[in-house]
Amino acid sequence: EKELKLFEEKHPRSKALFERAKANFIDGVPMNWMVKWAGSYPIFVDRGEGAYFTDVDGNRFIDFCLGDTGSMTGHAPEGAVPAIVERIKNGVTFMLPTEDAIWVGEALTKRFGLPYWQVAISATDANRFSLRLARHITKRKYVLVFNYSYHGTVDEAFITLKDGVAESRSGNIGPQVDPTQTTKVIEFNDIEALEKALAPGDVACVLAEPAMTNIGIIHPEPGYLEALREMTRRTGTLLIYDETHTMCAGPGGYTGAYGLKPDMLTVGKAIGGGIPTAVYGFSEEVAKRMRGLISLEDSDTGGIGGTLAGNALSMAAMRATLENVLTEEAFERNIALAKRFAEGVESVIEEKRLPWIVKRLGCRTEYWFRETPPRNGGEAAAAVDFELDRYMHLYALNRGILMTPFHNMALISSQTAVEDVDYHTEVFRQSVESLLE
Ligand code: PLP
Repeated sequence: EKELKLFEEKHPRSKALFERAKANFIDGVPMNWMVKWAGSYPIFVDRGEGAYFTDVDGNRFIDFCLGDTGSMTGHAPEGAVPAIVERIKNGVTFMLPTEDAIWVGEALTKRFGLPYWQVAISATDANRFSLRLARHITKRKYVLVFNYSYHGTVDEAFITLKDGVAESRSGNIGPQVDPTQTTKVIEFNDIEALEKALAPGDVACVLAEPAMTNIGIIHPEPGYLEALREMTRRTGTLLIYDETHTMCAGPGGYTGAYGLKPDMLTVGKAIGGGIPTAVYGFSEEVAKRMRGLISLEDSDTGGIGGTLAGNALSMAAMRATLENVLTEEAFERNIALAKRFAEGVESVIEEKRLPWIVKRLGCRTEYWFRETPPRNGGEAAAAVDFELDRYMHLYALNRGILMTPFHNMALISSQTAVEDVDYHTEVFRQSVESLLE
């Protein structure tokens, strides 16, 4: 109550804009998730700069959410803005390639290890197209996903396990998908369930994050990804890694950091520095099986692609982001700072003897209000304390810190300063003290 009142005192102009926006936007926001924050209404942004943004009421925030990784580069990154602006001045959409494509293709291959690529507009699209291709190539019906994973608004992946049975996820808008026709769902880190699901040979592909991030950070247990690779290979199932969030593990995502060998790989959001774009890649073997599928040899487009996909702007943005901003050196620095973030939170947890833990994946850190790390989505979902999450989030927000909502996650960009991280530790300490009062 006290924190909500404080929020409202600080954001009168956002409130007025929100009320006006309700006349033309459902829920008063142009995209429905924008309303799902801890305050009484969404904060309207004025401008972002590096690791910070200012809202329309003049409040300044340290942004640890960074567009849920979409702005991993920091806002308006100096290394990318000139190339993006230049491209805008020279035309953005031609439905023809630009020379930047050469640079981007080579960089993607170097980072993620896969030789062939296509470009989509969003990670959702890249995943949707990958599933379509995998099912077409293998002539198999099922997609296998992990419980409580998230891969965008992809029907086949918007499925969850309820009492061991796959069902369309609650909150799914539109016609309910029949999982018996599309999807198998199992828990992450469960080798036996994986073996059982793949054994009949009817799964086209496994679509997975190599470490889960959307129900909190869940690392693969030792040997799990090796087993996943071995079993998918043995059963003729394609393995697709979605690196959209796990890109935070390093310049080539988790795949690059741990030398993984997926058949296909998708990555969106950060890859274009926040400009809508995403890529999906293929191994030599998959590319061979695709020949003719997505080229002019076939009279149709194969149900993949998009008019604005791979346009001049997105290619320029990807090139500038990869060349100048999300570099190897940047990741090294940002990961070191994320460790400091984690240590800061851990020191408070220890000092206050809280039964909480901290998890980190590359330059992203998260704290959990439980004593042991969850092994899978089901365990994680059961452990979520929405009320406490919301309180901690709002408490930080009222003191100029934006965390990723619900999961208390913080992402470090190249623009995030040591002082920002230490300030977070202090605010975290105060929020804990306010709870213990
Ligand atoms: N894949 C993963 C792992 C994600 O976390 C998300 C979004 O959060 C997506 C795909 C979809 O990204 P977008 O909403 O940009 O299409």
